[in-house]
Amino acid sequence: MNILVANLGSTSFKFRLFRFGGAGDATLLAKGGYERVTDYGQAIDDCLAELKAGGHARSAADLHGVGFKTVLGKNLTGCVRADDRVIAALEGFKEIAPAHNPPYALGIQRFREKLPGVPLVALFETAFYQWVPEAATRYAVPPTWHEAGVRRYGFHGASHKFAAERSAELLGRADIAERVRQLYLAGPVPVAAGAKPLRVISCHFGGSSSVTGMRDGVAVGTSMGLSPQSGLPQNNRVGDLDSAAVPFVMKTLGLSLAEVERQMTKEGGLLGLSGVGNDMRDVRAAAAQGNARAQLALDVFIHSARHWIGAFLLELGGCDALVFTAGIGENNPDLRAAICANLTDLGISLDVTKNDTLRGTEGEISAAGARTRVFVIPANEELVVARETLRCISAAN
Ligand code: ADP
Repeated sequence: MNILVANLGSTSFKFRLFRFGGAGDATLLAKGGYERVTDYGQAIDDCLAELKAGGHARSAADLHGVGFKTVLGKNLTGCVRADDRVIAALEGFKEIAPAHNPPYALGIQRFREKLPGVPLVALFETAFYQWVPEAATRYAVPPTWHEAGVRRYGFHGASHKFAAERSAELLGRADIAERVRQLYLAGPVPVAAGAKPLRVISCHFGGSSSVTGMRDGVAVGTSMGLSPQSGLPQNNRVGDLDSAAVPFVMKTLGLSLAEVERQMTKEGGLLGLSGVGNDMRDVRAAAAQGNARAQLALDVFIHSARHWIGAFLLELGGCDALVFTAGIGENNPDLRAAICANLTDLGISLDVTKNDTLRGTEGEISAAGARTRVFVIPANEELVVARETLRCISAAN
């Protein structure tokens, strides 16, 4: 079975083609992409031509499904066929994810025209949070706001789900790993009576960052809310902010709403704090040379990460595994060390040598005997989308 994963940006189109064997093992056959895309139909034609030239898919008939990592939809989530409902749901919330929803709605339409008969599947980033208790998703807003859709949704669902599954495997909890695999098909199936609860906190720290708490593989809450414009400071986005700040700067700095939105998404986060860039490598390099603003950006990031880890440590009543994933989480031992500092009494303690040497690969970095196991688990969101797409298609047949 060949599954194509399409990653659609406002002007880009990236793809990966996976082949699944009978045992569910996946091989990455091809990957590629195009920038400055103005016509998704043309990009799809180019992609198919590339796959044909590479001998991976002679025609559309050799594609058994296409998966999309859609962000959020109005009144719709989960892993579902990318049909009219999905397009309407994406369009219904285009104001919340203006950089992502319109390209996905358009791209899915083009795929349907270009590849009739090939099943298309949307895996919403919000899907992992379907079972979060309402007390953790509800904002204290007037009912009309809530009815319009103002609530916490949560994002990075594909990544945190992978962390849930893989950490369960690493802890020898095949039951929970299987529960996570079945989640979008069967919902949270009952765990065996008397089984020890598995409490995991997953830290996806990358271009955008979030922390998610999970009990027995199911999310209990996450740091991101209505939009990816929330939680930890992001590369260019402000993250959590008191809502009073928006009317305040509009009135006192004379900014229009459009300008406030632009500055909150383009000039905030690590870039706004550090003044040197939005990439953690640049921020760290500047801090190492004594740049005080860059150091402050690091300190704010660490403080916010600890704030959210602390929230889930309490919510879960402890933590069996702490997971670091994505570009920042996988490659920055000193940030991991700073985030885990002084937590020995809470069961979290790192092995300095293991932490210092582990970059970009899977491994354990906790000190021997520490109550909480700490893992680095490289993110592979495209593979998650491909797997879920295959499950969705197979379940429907
Ligand atoms: P995205 O969220 O855009 O998919 P990533 O998960 O790759 O991106 O995360 C990007 C962030 O990870 C950047 O801030 C970058 O500095 C950081 N990062 C990526 N690779 C490294 C590395 N080798 N060393 C330090 N930081 C890294």
